Amino acid sequence: MKYVSTRGQAPILDFDDALLSGLARDGGLYVPESWPNISADEIAALKGLSYSETAFRIMRLFTGDSIGDDDLAHLINDAYAGFDDPDVAPMKQLGENEWLMELFHGPTLAFKDYAMQFLGRIFDFVLTRRGKRVTIVGATSGDTGSAAIEACRGRDAIEIFILHPEGRVSDVQRRQMTTITDSNVHNIAVKGTFDDCQNMVKAMFNDTDFRDRCNLSAVNSINWARVMAQTVYYFRAAAGMYDPTAPVSFAVPTGNFGNVFAGYGAKRMGLNIEQLIIGSNSNDILTRFFEAGRMEMTGIHPTISPSMDIQISSNFERLLFELYGRDGNIIKDMMTTFNDTGSFSVGEKEMARARELFAAARFSDEETSGTIARIFAEHKQLLDPHSAIGVAAGRARRRNPGTPLIDLATAHPAKFPDAVRAASGQHPALPEKLSDLFDREERFNVLDNDLTGVQEFVLTHRTDGTTR
Ligand SMILES: *Cc1c(COP(=O)(O)O)cnc(C)c1O
Repeated sequence: MKYVSTRGQAPILDFDDALLSGLARDGGLYVPESWPNISADEIAALKGLSYSETAFRIMRLFTGDSIGDDDLAHLINDAYAGFDDPDVAPMKQLGENEWLMELFHGPTLAFKDYAMQFLGRIFDFVLTRRGKRVTIVGATSGDTGSAAIEACRGRDAIEIFILHPEGRVSDVQRRQMTTITDSNVHNIAVKGTFDDCQNMVKAMFNDTDFRDRCNLSAVNSINWARVMAQTVYYFRAAAGMYDPTAPVSFAVPTGNFGNVFAGYGAKRMGLNIEQLIIGSNSNDILTRFFEAGRMEMTGIHPTISPSMDIQISSNFERLLFELYGRDGNIIKDMMTTFNDTGSFSVGEKEMARARELFAAARFSDEETSGTIARIFAEHKQLLDPHSAIGVAAGRARRRNPGTPLIDLATAHPAKFPDAVRAASGQHPALPEKLSDLFDREERFNVLDNDLTGVQEFVLTHRTDGTTR
């Protein structure tokens, strides 16, 4: 399987090179040269398989000759072995023909673990095979940092530095990062905002000399392997229905468009998906797009669903590439326009095609709290604010009540205890594996909002063991 860039100018790569390069050299995102096909018989045969077996059957179509079958099976088994539910992604009935798929049984209680646990392992595997080491640098406002740290801890080929804004992430989120004491994990609390952290990370990648000295790398949401690993649970959800080949719809709380694009991929591979319903918070760039056919950047409003407080949905470029017949030149021009003017428009023909599959709805914090309260009252089921937005969007936009609707629950309610308690009056308890989180020792370094100082820190703490 080969990978091409959405902007058509970067080298065509094998799976393992696309994995390690993240962003393509022309600024585009890697996608498979063509979508692999899974027949209806093969989809029917997924029924009754374990999560790991399902993942193996799906992912081997994308990894091709780059990873041997035994190695891939081992990486997958290991990635999901530590999840705290034997089903890995269990489903609960929520209403008439409606199910909740719980994607919060990994180490950090958010759906990002489902891709990240695999990504950390396959990164380490490919690097070790090449005799290479990388330094991963990332900025986080919460969920991504802890998922990345959990995925990379203790891996020989990886040194990881995560920047978070000091005092501006929740206690649960901070402790999920700072209580990991493996010697290859470095938490930096920056005296500044999330934007300051993100700007420093960008500056480090743009500093070619620094980038090469550290062999800098990223595991962010545009990495193809994350999308690939996320297609798995769409197949698994359908396999849990009476007939895995019958139509299903999904409701997905969305920020960067990574999760819901994986659903699109599953559809292109042959899964019988009727609708993909997108839920936004008041950072509603995607919902406005599906209403008006126009993508337009605005400022960020903080909400009670902070993992969806985004200005641009970076993975959306992959859908555009598909809508425009995989013409990289068109995408390159559209992205240049977006960069220069803050907006771009999509033609009527392409919009009509997009609207056949996608629908979208936005919800204010007040509406989200109302959904948390209502679902608790009706079903005794606590939802985190992100998952609640998905459920609300699914209910508001589903076209056909006869088609099973699967709502993706993207975080455990205990990850956002204040918002959940305010909405429902219930205090969501942390799962057993994290019940001593507040007793664990924390380790992090507080640094000034100063690029040179942070770069110096990375350089001197890069080789494990020497400075501690
Ligand atoms: C990251 C995140 C999302 C958004 O996912 P995207 O792939 O960026 O659309 C939704 N919910 C939670 C809890 C998240 O952590």
